[in-house]
Amino acid sequence: MQLIEHSDSPRYVRLHEDDNVVVVVNDQGVAEGSAFPDGLVTVEGVPQSHKVATVDIPEGAEVRRYGQVIGYANQPLRKGSWVQEHQLRMPTAPALDSLPMSTAVPAPLPPLEGYTFEGYRNADGTVGTRNILGITTTVQCVTGVLEHAVKRIRQELLPRYPNVDDVVALTHSYGCGVAINARDAYIPIRTVRNLSRNPNLGGEALVISLGCEKLQAGQVMHEDDPSVDLSDPWLYRLQDAGQGFGEMIEQIMELAEVRLKKLDQRRRETVPASELILGMQCGGSDAFSGITANPALGYAADLLVRAGATVMFSENTEVRDAIYMLTARAENMEVANALVREMDWYDQYLERGAADRSANTTPGNKKGGLSNIVEKALGSIVKSGSSAINGVIGPGERVDRKGLIFCATPASDFVCGTLQLAAGMNLHVFTTGRGTPYGLAMTPVVKVCTRTELAKRWHDLIDIDAGRVATGRMSIEELGWELFHYYLDVASGRKQTWAEQHRLHNDIVLFNPAPIT
Ligand code: CA
Repeated sequence: MQLIEHSDSPRYVRLHEDDNVVVVVNDQGVAEGSAFPDGLVTVEGVPQSHKVATVDIPEGAEVRRYGQVIGYANQPLRKGSWVQEHQLRMPTAPALDSLPMSTAVPAPLPPLEGYTFEGYRNADGTVGTRNILGITTTVQCVTGVLEHAVKRIRQELLPRYPNVDDVVALTHSYGCGVAINARDAYIPIRTVRNLSRNPNLGGEALVISLGCEKLQAGQVMHEDDPSVDLSDPWLYRLQDAGQGFGEMIEQIMELAEVRLKKLDQRRRETVPASELILGMQCGGSDAFSGITANPALGYAADLLVRAGATVMFSENTEVRDAIYMLTARAENMEVANALVREMDWYDQYLERGAADRSANTTPGNKKGGLSNIVEKALGSIVKSGSSAINGVIGPGERVDRKGLIFCATPASDFVCGTLQLAAGMNLHVFTTGRGTPYGLAMTPVVKVCTRTELAKRWHDLIDIDAGRVATGRMSIEELGWELFHYYLDVASGRKQTWAEQHRLHNDIVLFNPAPIT
């Protein structure tokens, strides 16, 4: 990355020597007639994080960023002009039947030994970074009652069990009024089941059911499942409660207290960094996402992979246009084929809804200088670092191996976060350019912003300022190491993220591609 820096003078970032557009760094953008240190002069004003043509680009010619084609000029673009979305024709998505399959597998990176964190060991071998009582639900009907009970548990019981971090109701909109036998219903069903097995919930199963719903408790908890403890009564059906609302609340609180007592006995112990299961995603991206925050996450991802941890990246529509770069990195043909399978499934899913991948980019993305999904995808996959891709899991599946994993999810922040929780994530990192106060109740969320201006304004929401990379105050490597250490501190409970301190939690949002009735 070439960085041209001087305190107030016009500055830009070039990602690749073959690029014919560069990205403006200055907080206020640059005015018409501004001269960059290399002599490039703007012919119009260009806002921060937007693109400037470095040469005259004829109509029909490639526009390149990251050394890749992000579009074709649909009109002549003058040297020094502001290159905008409406001036680009988007390339077609790479065909799935002619991809490079496991053709450029990166050599294993040297192991990184001796790094640890303080975590809660679970009976099934996983490790929690928090000690939370999770209460699963089979249907939305029980939400009001359960939330009432949880409020009282938090106020009246939790203070008596100081080693328990929180109590969380796993409420959702699934369970009834749905086509439970539809072809794709397995996705929300296995998501509910695997959410209850998240390492941060300590294997203490408790299910609140209504009674008459389609999703029955046996589909969520299996008696032979080693990851949950079913030795205590674990199912409470509201329709079996005899004496009304007050009794329901009392009985749910009693069931909760049995588990709080057990969770309270647990203590953190030193475990290797390989027990981390990090989920990565982005939201509210801008053109800096691919320059500052995501490359730093990628560097930290490589460090975690070297330490033997599990690192997941996701967001189907944000990898689709760069899939040729990922299939090439697949460890073997099985993994490459699984990547293609997930992309193909998602293409068909979008097609059924008469949409395509271009539905992904938001007005905020565009305001932040991202012209289209191709440019967004190239900046998004940088999070995955440089190691081989070791595995692929479908939406709602639980991760079963270490290394770099593609966890196939929609890009929607809450849906992706929910599916990564179901996969077993015990720590989440989230990059943002435009800014979002996103958080999850079941795991700490580390928020990394792409620009220093946002880090300053949202000083009590953003944990890590990756904008320091754009202004030359820090290298990607230094920031990657900072993230790596921060992950271990947060995982150990030595530090709390802002979202955790403020208790900012988005809802669990299930991915249900099946019909509702
Ligand atoms: Ca997202």
